[in-house]
Amino acid sequence: MKGLSFAGKRVLVRVDFNVPLSTTNEITDDNRIKASLPTLRHILAEGGSLILCSHLGRPQQEKTPQGELDIARFTLRHIQGYLENALGRKVRFVNDCIGKEAQSCCRNLAPGDVILLENTRFHKGEEKGDDSMARELASLADIYINDAFGSAHRAHVSTTGVAHYFSPESRGFGFLMDAEVANANRLLSNTEKPFAAIIGGAKVSDKLLLLDRMLELVDMLLIGGGMAFTFIRARGGHIGGSLVEPERLELAAALLDRAARKGVMVLLPVDVLAADRFANDAITRTVPAHEIPDSWLGLDIGPQSAKLFREALGSVRTILWNGPMGVFEMPAFATGTLAVAQAVADATRKGAFSLVGGGDSVAAVTQAGLVDAVSYVSTGGGALLEMLEGKVLPGVKAILD
Ligand code: AMP
Repeated sequence: MKGLSFAGKRVLVRVDFNVPLSTTNEITDDNRIKASLPTLRHILAEGGSLILCSHLGRPQQEKTPQGELDIARFTLRHIQGYLENALGRKVRFVNDCIGKEAQSCCRNLAPGDVILLENTRFHKGEEKGDDSMARELASLADIYINDAFGSAHRAHVSTTGVAHYFSPESRGFGFLMDAEVANANRLLSNTEKPFAAIIGGAKVSDKLLLLDRMLELVDMLLIGGGMAFTFIRARGGHIGGSLVEPERLELAAALLDRAARKGVMVLLPVDVLAADRFANDAITRTVPAHEIPDSWLGLDIGPQSAKLFREALGSVRTILWNGPMGVFEMPAFATGTLAVAQAVADATRKGAFSLVGGGDSVAAVTQAGLVDAVSYVSTGGGALLEMLEGKVLPGVKAILD
């Protein structure tokens, strides 16, 4: 974006305003909007005008009982007031991201004007990458900036198709997208070693590709959360009623074998906080991870595991953290995840580069008040995972091609 001149230009910015809303449509987490503000402020300060587009939710999948689009629920009008406050200027809302109204509103923009277009997913063509929609959207502006890293793994009109209608000299990444790609790349090439990946969360199946790829890159793999039990079971442990994916046992065993052959150290929990039921007020006891009594559930890593993980992280130079160590949404089972958040922050203070990504681990560092104590917190869930898995993101490729 730095090489582009915005003065007097109409700039179409694909932002990621897909934020969670309360039942009364209040924004409950404004991180994604906040993260786009430096790009928007820069373009305005340079004398450009803004035409903002984004999706919000899944309006094509979640229609009203009458089978119609639920405009009241998914309209980007919910963001307008927040944006006006954040930018300190009027934001004009346009009811459709393409069509006559959009054309006439975007025709004569003055420097500093801001237009917010309606949800791009109100058009079926958005998710299909429809070419005529891409052409129409592109016709609104002189320059296209993609700052929506969270949607960069989608080959949709507003993230990918539209970019092809701008020359390489009139399209670019926003500051957020730039930072996301640069930070993810820091894990993928010329990585400072030792490199540790901490992978947690519910299921092995969701993280298989990530685990597979990490084996090629890391020196140490720390596995926690529900997915650890499939590995512990694969090693012959007794896991009681803990989460397990029986159809992944062989794969988990193969992964452990491969890690051993490659000299990647795999750390699994050695003890767990087990509960007699899945509830915050369950009766709990700390037990060895491979000796969980029948019908008890491992819902967090135990203190010995937290200590083991902390010590391992003490000597590394690069850290990826994706996925919680336990059911941290329940305070009774958040201790292990918060301890890992602290260990990542401590390693960062000692000079390690740490990237935290994936919704739940981001929520955990936020909950621990450690957002500023890690090197980078990604706004991308699926997009970050796909990038780390080695895939080329369509939204990134469309700008670079
Ligand atoms: P993911 O989206 O795959 O990163 O998984 C996050 C979810 O995994 C969170 O909702 C956690 O509650 C859940 N989780 C983490 N550890 C466990 C566990 N030991 N048992 C069941 N669920 C877990």
